[in-house]
Amino acid sequence: MGGLAVRDVVVHYRDDDGTVATAVDGVSLDIAPGEVLALLGPSGSGKSTLLRAIAGLEPLSAGQVRWDGADLAGVPTHRRGFGLVFQDGQLFPHRDVAGNVGFGLAMTGPGRRDRAAHRARVTELLELMGLGGFERRDVASLSGGERQRVALARSLAPRPRLLLLDEPLSALDRALRERLAGDVRAALVATGTTALFVTHDHDEAFAVADRIAVMDLGRLLQVAEPAELWHRP
Ligand code: ADP
Ligand code: ADP
Repeated sequence: MGGLAVRDVVVHYRDDDGTVATAVDGVSLDIAPGEVLALLGPSGSGKSTLLRAIAGLEPLSAGQVRWDGADLAGVPTHRRGFGLVFQDGQLFPHRDVAGNVGFGLAMTGPGRRDRAAHRARVTELLELMGLGGFERRDVASLSGGERQRVALARSLAPRPRLLLLDEPLSALDRALRERLAGDVRAALVATGTTALFVTHDHDEAFAVADRIAVMDLGRLLQVAEPAELWHRP
């Protein structure tokens, strides 16, 4: 089966007094190519640790993460072909908007020296994120919502085979979050991007996802389409 397969993943960590604790406690889930899956759960439920484990930023204590059937054990983060977006988009302060969005294009993929194609891609993604004409803006002049739009455009530019988003809207106020959640979904669908979207916010999960995986205390409670969630016979 294509796409992402997470199998029986366990992640332990050492807490402050040195005892071993469990952040992710035997999670299995699949994300099909082109699917947007929201991982929803309260703070401390293990969502971020699971996302980091999928990215290769956190060692697995047990289980497997596979892409298109191939085990990713030993494959470093930068070779997984995944994109990452965090709560604070972490833009490069010394580059303008186009310089941020085009950053990943200059070093990855075929035609990495094709400047005309890079410019077209940068412009296309800025328009997709509602930032047409922002190419030469200084990132310091942007609002919080605009900064996250730039971070999203930057992460999509190299066409990641999986985009991992960890609470990308959590630093924004509620009205902005609602608008942006819809725009994020539209951008993921328009680019056919497979994505895992971590959030503690129900409305956000419903607005972005094809399916929602609910997590608590390190375990998955259920995985369902938004309309089916909580409605069990
Ligand atoms: P979420 O993303 O759902 O808020 P996290 O994955 O960040 O949850 O954390 C899950 C639990 O594991 C929390 O109780 C957190 O404090 C704990 N945890 C995870 N990794 C570590 C670590 N390296 N050191 C200490 N605690 C950790
Ligand atoms: P570089 O010397 O790395 O090309 P630039 O700041 O000129 O530095 O460009 C950074 C990225 O932004 C590159 O991917 C480039 O193709 C893109 N870019 C530069 N100018 C524009 C523009 N006016 N419209 C769209 N993309 C642009």
